[in-house]
Amino acid sequence: MFTFDHRLLTHLTERKARGLYRIRRAKETAQGPEIGIEGRRYLNFSSNDYLGLADHPRLKQALQRGLEHYGLGSGASHLISGYSRSHQCLEEELAAFVQRPRALVFSTGYMANLGVVSALAGRGDTLIEDRLNHASLIDAAVLSRARLKRYPHVDVEALARLLPTVNHGQAYVLTEGIFSMDGDLAPLPAIASVCRHHNAVLMVDDAHGFGVLGLNGEGSLGHFGLGLEEVPVLMGTFGKALGVFGAFVAGSEALIETLIQKARSYIYTTALPPALAEAIREAVAIVRTERWRCERLGELIRYFKEGARLLGLSLKPSDTAIQPVILGDTAAVLHAARQLEAQGVYVAPIRPPTVPRGTARLRISLTAAHTHDQIDRLLEALSRRSFESPF
Ligand SMILES: *Cc1c(COP(=O)(O)O)cnc(C)c1O
Repeated sequence: MFTFDHRLLTHLTERKARGLYRIRRAKETAQGPEIGIEGRRYLNFSSNDYLGLADHPRLKQALQRGLEHYGLGSGASHLISGYSRSHQCLEEELAAFVQRPRALVFSTGYMANLGVVSALAGRGDTLIEDRLNHASLIDAAVLSRARLKRYPHVDVEALARLLPTVNHGQAYVLTEGIFSMDGDLAPLPAIASVCRHHNAVLMVDDAHGFGVLGLNGEGSLGHFGLGLEEVPVLMGTFGKALGVFGAFVAGSEALIETLIQKARSYIYTTALPPALAEAIREAVAIVRTERWRCERLGELIRYFKEGARLLGLSLKPSDTAIQPVILGDTAAVLHAARQLEAQGVYVAPIRPPTVPRGTARLRISLTAAHTHDQIDRLLEALSRRSFESPF
């Protein structure tokens, strides 16, 4: 036992020395533009609550109504007795929202990716992924036992060169819609077109686009006008713009039925509490009807970018709520985050392996619930801190 713990502690110490040690900070308030941590209040630019729905009264009321009607626990997996009318209604509403025949609700986006990829691809197949894809898409590839190839970030030409090298089995191309740590959009029309040319099946993880992009908030595919033909597999989550928890996969009748038979992270797990499904239904309704939230978010993004430009901050080419400031070095990014925190501004420092080595960054994220004044305060804090001199 001593040697086991000793070994663990050696690894942990090494991690600390490299500036890669991760800690958790316990929030004492609801998620929102202002949060309390350890008795202090902070302006918060570190959530994925892009539309400011995480603490919305209508979502909380829907959850309470769901609790009254269905109780708390779903009590079983979907295929036993955990599936309820509430899940069914949510699936139907989601399918209509993203204009696909069917949708299937998973407990989390991580599980949705594991489930869909390992249900579809197996030994002998090939998964081709953007190099910056989310960890869940990489883990899904490993679990599926299919061959994994990666192409440089959003490099469609590299993807087009890789596709003809797949000479047996099915090729699948996996990309995020909006990239979680960079905020840029995948060139989906071009990707879809090379996929079609090479008979590859395209899957889009739209965790950060769903609820935000498109005319009605339906996501990246709506933004580009891509349908089922071009993108047979769509995955989206409810824990980000929708402010709740959970995820879904949408596609054809045959796809969803296949997942119900084969997606192990759907089959062998307890169904989401039905009351949560009620809260998600309400969130979908708000996204569809309150388009001003997206307009407001868009306006705040432009306001921040213009302010950052005037400060001479170098931002990535992102027009979304995700605005990373890349500092490169892990020590520099920790130092910068601490400096911002001392000024009452909370921004998450993001380090490897979440992002590639040498690209540690402050991941600034904006929400529709922020005010211009709060963004001014963020910009002021950014202008005061000296990024270049860690320690
Ligand atoms: C957050 C995220 C997930 C995981 O979704 P959860 O519901 O939080 O498990 C998957 N893919 C991407 C791109 C994400 O950003």
